[in-house]
Amino acid sequence: MRKKVLITLLVLVLAVGGAAAWWFSGSSISDDTVVLMYHLISDDLYGESHYLFVSPADFEAQVAHLAESGYRFVFACDLAKFPGEKVACITFDDGYVDNYTTAMPILAKYGACGTVFVTVNNLDKPGFLTGEQCREMAESGVMSIESHTVSHPYLSQLTEEQQRQEFSASQQALQDITGQPVTALAYPYGDYDRYVAKVAADYFDVAVLTAQPRRSVRESMLTTPRIRVEREHSLEEFIALVQ
Ligand SMILES: [Zn+2]
Repeated sequence: MRKKVLITLLVLVLAVGGAAAWWFSGSSISDDTVVLMYHLISDDLYGESHYLFVSPADFEAQVAHLAESGYRFVFACDLAKFPGEKVACITFDDGYVDNYTTAMPILAKYGACGTVFVTVNNLDKPGFLTGEQCREMAESGVMSIESHTVSHPYLSQLTEEQQRQEFSASQQALQDITGQPVTALAYPYGDYDRYVAKVAADYFDVAVLTAQPRRSVRESMLTTPRIRVEREHSLEEFIALVQ
């Protein structure tokens, strides 16, 4: 009798453990995953935020380091698909034109890929991507195009209806341009709260934050932290960031 109880208990423990393992593998990303946040890949500095301009030479050295270190490069929409693997996800915010002219050829050279979070209202403005470039990038298989909303607002300050408008209109506009599904979001300014994340979940499978410590708690795929790479980072500092 006691043996039966023990076996039942053992079966229960295994079942619960297995279910938990399945749940976590499907709904979060492993500790060996690095999600990197870039903006511009350029030495033509303008404006005040020079830390956002990573030199093309530095960017190439960083991508080469990741490739040599055996990372599997994935798009943001595929972040949860490789549990237990060493995964690198290279992302760019706002939709600057050098993501097309400079970053994409470097990524292609190393068999890597990247995800551009495009602010729809930036499209076709000087210094930013055109719709045609977005389409080409998506078609190349090197870059995926995802949402950084329509107008780059502080989402937590909007009404739910306005949030839904930012999500659905940007998703629709970018899908119309690329002909591919848009299932990931980068919160502008990293601004979100649990209400924003809940609404975002109606439109996206993955949403990424701005600079957060890599080991910070990943509550869900809708609050995925990223490492911000800055112009001042030496290769040694970059290697320490991703380790
Ligand atoms: Zn932004």
